[in-house]
Amino acid sequence: VKKFKVGDFAGVGCMVDSCRTCESCKQDLEQYCLTHTSFTYNGTEQDKKTPTQGGYSTEIVTEERFVVKISEKLDLKATAPLLCAGITTYSPLRHWKVGKGQKVGVIGLGGLGHMGVKFAKAMGAHVTMITTSASKGEDAKRLGADAVLLSTDAEAMNAAAASFNFLLNTVPVSHDINPYTNLLKLDGTMVLVGALTPLDGVVGGSLMLPRRTIAGSAIGGMAETQEMMDFCAEHNIVSDIEVVDMASINETYVRLAKNDVRYRFVIDMATMPA
Ligand SMILES: [Zn+2]
Repeated sequence: VKKFKVGDFAGVGCMVDSCRTCESCKQDLEQYCLTHTSFTYNGTEQDKKTPTQGGYSTEIVTEERFVVKISEKLDLKATAPLLCAGITTYSPLRHWKVGKGQKVGVIGLGGLGHMGVKFAKAMGAHVTMITTSASKGEDAKRLGADAVLLSTDAEAMNAAAASFNFLLNTVPVSHDINPYTNLLKLDGTMVLVGALTPLDGVVGGSLMLPRRTIAGSAIGGMAETQEMMDFCAEHNIVSDIEVVDMASINETYVRLAKNDVRYRFVIDMATMPA
């Protein structure tokens, strides 16, 4: 191990290994490994058989390529979700070169959305929270959003048509994306980072006029995850969290299913029974 010394703060995210030699891995895009990405949870090691054991443990073993340094300036417990929700939103904002002078919309305010607002703002963009809930809109402003657009307000949605350079769509379930597509201006892109399931009928015409793009993105490579961690230290960005102990995990799960979390639960591993 060369990157770390005893006592350093270190983080392991969604991946613990990849083939390390394919075209994607050579470009530091291990999450898109052409052979096999070993995901931390519900995954398998490079033999494609041995199950990975997840992170709910007091110890974890992995190669240093899959470990990032965490600045001591940051609140350690609030950096944990950066390794998933953080990089998931940071990576597309960087890839599509979001920055100053651009109008960015973040659709949905949850674990992903709240990080999207913080990053897009820190990158210099004008940020609008697009949500169905007025109270979440207020919360987004507290997190740094410049404006709120209620997706249930047809008049406001019409007025905002063709005005966004970039949309980060964090909605985690199947939904009609056409009302959002219409918000994109010429050459604007909407990136999906939430829904894994089929999307309702996409209207081809609204992509053609005016030349809009719909894309997807998944976490980020290890080099970019380190870049994100360093960006967070520089801009003092962490996740909004609620720490829970192992004994309350079932109760926590019920709350999670009801979307009753602002905006990520973090389990204190010191409370895990021996
Ligand atoms: Zn690979």
